[in-house]
Amino acid sequence: MPRLAVLGHPVAHSRSPALQNAALAELGLGEEWRYEAIDVAPEEFEARVRAMPAEGFAGANVTVPHKEAALAVADLASEVAKEIGAANTLVFGEEQERIHAHNTDAPGLIATLPGSPRARRALVLGAGGAARAAVWALSAEGAVVDITGVDIWNRTGSRADAVYAELSRVTELGGAPVAAVRQDAYGIIVNTTTVGLHGEDPFEHLPLQRTGFDHEQVVVDMVYGDAPSPLLAAAEASGATVVDGLEVLVQQGALSLKIWTGRDAPLDVMRAAARA
Ligand code: NAP
Repeated sequence: MPRLAVLGHPVAHSRSPALQNAALAELGLGEEWRYEAIDVAPEEFEARVRAMPAEGFAGANVTVPHKEAALAVADLASEVAKEIGAANTLVFGEEQERIHAHNTDAPGLIATLPGSPRARRALVLGAGGAARAAVWALSAEGAVVDITGVDIWNRTGSRADAVYAELSRVTELGGAPVAAVRQDAYGIIVNTTTVGLHGEDPFEHLPLQRTGFDHEQVVVDMVYGDAPSPLLAAAEASGATVVDGLEVLVQQGALSLKIWTGRDAPLDVMRAAARA
């Protein structure tokens, strides 16, 4: 029975086992494949991953805080993973148990966007791992979503500068790290900070006004929980199109599932399982 897993620390909160097992069952692979959550401390990550092929694992998702380590442990990596500097999907090849790394966070984010924001800019809030994938996705896939540049804001400005400088070497960002935000200048706003995860008020911690959204904008909140986030509730009330973190999770998971099984993922089944 091929095994799959999500590796994180902590990982108990992850919705990935629910949505991946639901998808495997829908595809008729539920008897063959099994997806589980494994909590791995950072110091044990490399040894744990190297042991997995012999334990029957075909692949794994990797989440906080292991995405950079996942790229480092791989024998082969996709161009996307290399350019972002992080991997969220591992495949254990049969020859010499080689480890292949992919990044489905970036194409997963693009897959959630509902079409062109009409040649406007994108703003990414945050400068952690999720921000790097979002900035890369929006700039490298900019033609798809018709974005003219990507600006980055972060509470600690020097980290926004560092992400901008690093990703500028591999893709044309066309934007800038920003200290002040003109909210109406953006066609897409993506929150990749953890603000909202523990109930923080986004309008106290982020450079956004509750009533400053408009109906031409797409607002994505990577944070997910049981209720709609206050950020998305305010954006939706102003007529903006909103995308929540669970949809991003489903889309990146669907792409990972395709890499492991070769099968198109049943998105609606995954959505229902993620929200159950
Ligand atoms: P990370 O590397 O720890 O980065 C955290 C970011 O949040 C940093 O930019 C940090 O700013 C900012 N931040 C934290 N507290 C803040 C506050 N009070 N005010 C303003 N900014 C604050 O985390 P990550 O891996 O990028 O993940 C970020 C979030 O995205 C997490 O909630 C994660 O669960 C979510 N995520 C979701 C998906 C999905 O599929 N939906 C995928 C990936 C990640 P400083 O630099 O100033 O500390």
